[in-house]
Amino acid sequence: MIEGFEQMLAGSLHLEEPCYIMGAEFDSVQNEVHIHVGVRKDAMIPCPKCGGSTTRYGYEPTERSWRHSDCLFYRCYVHCQRPRVLCEHCGAQQVNAPFERPHSRFTLLFEGYAMMIMSDVPRRKASALLRCDEKSLTSILSYWVNRTVKEQNLSDVSRIAIDETSFKRGHDYVTVSVDPDQKRVFDVQPGRSKEAVTAMKTKLEQHGGDSANIQAITCDMSASYLPATRENFPNAKQVIDKFHVKKRLLSALDDIRKQEQRKVDKKQEIFRSRRLFMIPEAKMTDAQKNSRRRTFFKLSPNVSSLSDCPVA
Ligand SMILES: [Zn+2]
Repeated sequence: MIEGFEQMLAGSLHLEEPCYIMGAEFDSVQNEVHIHVGVRKDAMIPCPKCGGSTTRYGYEPTERSWRHSDCLFYRCYVHCQRPRVLCEHCGAQQVNAPFERPHSRFTLLFEGYAMMIMSDVPRRKASALLRCDEKSLTSILSYWVNRTVKEQNLSDVSRIAIDETSFKRGHDYVTVSVDPDQKRVFDVQPGRSKEAVTAMKTKLEQHGGDSANIQAITCDMSASYLPATRENFPNAKQVIDKFHVKKRLLSALDDIRKQEQRKVDKKQEIFRSRRLFMIPEAKMTDAQKNSRRRTFFKLSPNVSSLSDCPVA
């Protein structure tokens, strides 16, 4: 084999003694690379279940194959006949290869790369890029997402943002809860009811979080979220999402614009005011900020502050 090539292959498969690269070949008919991994016959292997000492118990009856990450853009497969061991406590046990997770037909390197691709492109596109069927990619995605969700530590969550969304336009709604400090979605519940917020609190506490430590919750102005957040997170300051405040303001400005349409002299002023609410704060001039403030209070005389609009 080419110098260093064996080490490269062994590294990509996390191989350590007693596992080793037996050989690799290129199949020029199928355009595929095949790597063969062996496990030394005389090596002692601890019990995969209890970690105790074992005696060797032969090999699995047939060689197993896994899809590995491409080698020079050629599909690559790893083959290995894995050993079995006999433990006095656990009986006969199948030993897994260091490059696989149990029951997967893909190596860990392939799955890691697939997850990286799927975080950037839709699954259908990922399927074409990786030359792997969508069903297998769904299985890989489900495993790693579920595992991460199960292991997530929410003890440091002190602020929460919740909102509703739908998986497909006009279809089933879900309540999504985000930790804005870590920029991570930590919970998704079916529906957009009060029960969804209560279920989110249960999940938070199951993963080390404390509802009493939540200092602020951002949500929309819906009749279900506000009472539910007050009840479940009594110490949290309730904040209305800027997006929803802006949406109502623009809608109010639109209504006035429609009413004023016949009065030509006021039409331009209302139109210009509407645009002011669409300019990002950081890009506004002082004159624009003052103008926006005047328009805001003219339209919303009962609101005392423009920032965040706390309603608690
Ligand atoms: Zn054992």
